[in-house]
Amino acid sequence: MVIYRSRSLVTLIKSSYSYSVRRFCSSIIPSQLQKVGFIGLGNMGSRMANNLIKAGYNVAVHDINLSVIKVFSDKGITVKGTPMEVAEISDVVITMLPSPSHVLNVYTGPNGLLNGGSTVKPWLFIDSSTIDPQTTRKIYSAISNCVLIEKKDSWATPVMLDAPVSGGVPAAEAGTLTFMVGGPEEAYKAANHLFSSMGKNTIYCGSSGTGSAAKICNNLAMAVSMLGVSEAFVLGQSLGITATTLTKIFNSSSARCWSSDTYNPVPCVMEGVPSSRNYDGGFASTLMAKDLNLASESAKEVGLNCPLTSEAKDIFTKLCDEGHGRKDFSCVFRHFYSGKDEL
Ligand code: NAD
Repeated sequence: MVIYRSRSLVTLIKSSYSYSVRRFCSSIIPSQLQKVGFIGLGNMGSRMANNLIKAGYNVAVHDINLSVIKVFSDKGITVKGTPMEVAEISDVVITMLPSPSHVLNVYTGPNGLLNGGSTVKPWLFIDSSTIDPQTTRKIYSAISNCVLIEKKDSWATPVMLDAPVSGGVPAAEAGTLTFMVGGPEEAYKAANHLFSSMGKNTIYCGSSGTGSAAKICNNLAMAVSMLGVSEAFVLGQSLGITATTLTKIFNSSSARCWSSDTYNPVPCVMEGVPSSRNYDGGFASTLMAKDLNLASESAKEVGLNCPLTSEAKDIFTKLCDEGHGRKDFSCVFRHFYSGKDEL
């Protein structure tokens, strides 16, 4: 009974605390950010939108997947049938979509956010999808050619920020994402409250497209280091040294990296990582293949020779073609290199 009472008290304190935090947050939301449209409610977007709702934003959503839309309408959130309808009632619109073609379509397609026209209501558009900097700049330019229906504070024309994220689904859920932001610095500063409602780190990268560039460079380095570590573990196993022993050595030597000390790809070396649960959850190989393709296309565009990018792209594409696209990208250890589980 005593335990029950103290638990209820804790629950009460927690709920009144979160209520007052929410009230406090909503009271300090800047007026130009009050109404937020959110498009793309998949694994990441649904969680990001939920955190905005919790923070007190007035959110309207759209997705082509009616089952995810129903989850939001059942909670009383405003849902709209097209991106254009979202734009008509929003100060800010955030997009979280799979690939460049989806993002282009949502902005510039029929019934898109820009509605093919020259006047828009939102003063700020934020794209958090992982796409190439070239597509980001194309959309930035289309937005810059629009005018605002109504001038918003100091903003006479609409602006766009590219703000892709790192951290994956658990960080989207916990509101601890890292945002890499490109675009006008003033807009970045003005949007700070939005970012801090969905993430814990925000890094300003520079002009439009630099957030997208940062994201694909990060994932390229992550893919290559995962391949390097996996290849080394497999060679070690073949030469008679266990991955557990090699991990201890790497983690106190010059080979230490995120793929060896935080996200080890060898089953049974670390707990709580995708390799310890048959590579389920985590960052899908299809998304890694997509991001390497973006890096490869961007390198071509600027005439840069990036041999590791091409090799990594081919390996992850093969992994997907062989049916492992939904598994976490660290499954390259098992499915590409045929590495052995530790016992
Ligand atoms: P997802 O496939 O789960 O969700 C995408 C959503 O967009 C879906 O609900 C889909 O129905 C919707 N959609 C597609 N086309 C649309 C359109 N024309 N109009 C409206 N809605 C449309 O993808 P995700 O895992 O949420 O990833 C989203 C983006 O974030 C991707 O660019 C991905 O690379 C990036 N990202 C993902 C992760 C991750 O761990 N999943 C981590 C970092 C970044």
